[in-house]
Amino acid sequence: AHEGSLVLADLVGEAERVVVFTGAGISTESGIPDFRSPNGIWAKIKPIYFEEFVHSEEARLEDWRRRFAFRQEFLAAEPNIAHRAIAKLVHDGKVGAVITQNIDGLHQRAGVPADRLIEIHGNATYATCLDCGKRHELGLLEQEIATTGHSPVCRACGGLVKAAVISFGQAMPTHEMLRAEQAMEEADLFVAVGSSLQVQPAASLPLAAKYQGSRLVIVNRDATPLDGIADRVLRGSIGTVFSAL
Ligand code: NAD
Ligand code: ZN
Repeated sequence: AHEGSLVLADLVGEAERVVVFTGAGISTESGIPDFRSPNGIWAKIKPIYFEEFVHSEEARLEDWRRRFAFRQEFLAAEPNIAHRAIAKLVHDGKVGAVITQNIDGLHQRAGVPADRLIEIHGNATYATCLDCGKRHELGLLEQEIATTGHSPVCRACGGLVKAAVISFGQAMPTHEMLRAEQAMEEADLFVAVGSSLQVQPAASLPLAAKYQGSRLVIVNRDATPLDGIADRVLRGSIGTVFSAL
């Protein structure tokens, strides 16, 4: 087996309370591009900020067009060996929590139960009302927009409906951040997988884990700003590094 993979399996074996923290890199081997690689999403389109979504109908319609395209991409993708290895470690009781920056729903589809999964940037596979929080399904919203030509409002309260993700400029979800911090506090091994660790406040979690006394392992192809404080940095493809697990 790959050397990094054996190192990771040993570290997980020695630990008692493992927390896994994932970024876009864990899903590239499922065919979903990440953000900051040369062929990542930001090389092609610029993000729509929360303020633009709230104030501009044009921005909202463009946001929906992108959401519906991503939805197809996410549904066509399958969880890969790393998603499945992590789900198994959750079922075995080794991993107490999976904190993810991803919005693609692949951790759930690999079998991580909701009470072990913390989605700090939300989930792109459904939408919610910005005012009352009511859940709305993307398939119905797509039909509605195709019929009316307008961005949808909530049937319950008239508020704006938006994909259930945290956009640039939007506040982080308080409850999910609290859950993430509680999980991090209890970790004795914190494994950061496939994240460039450049997006705040998410990138502060591995740092805080280290200060709280946890071991920190970084699994990523490229260098990250936290490599210098990590106990181990495992380079290479995530699928390969997780193969022994
Ligand atoms: P990022 O794009 O900033 O960084 C991804 C990192 O993963 C890079 O450092 C890259 O070198 C590494 N990587 C990519 N493929 C790899 C592989 N096969 N093996 C090893 N390393 C690999 O991702 P981020 O830090 O998660 O931040 C991006 C933000 O964008 C997140 O907030 C997330 O919400 C969002 N996003 C989500 C998805 C998704 O849900 N799948 C996709 C793109 C972006
Ligand atoms: Zn509402």
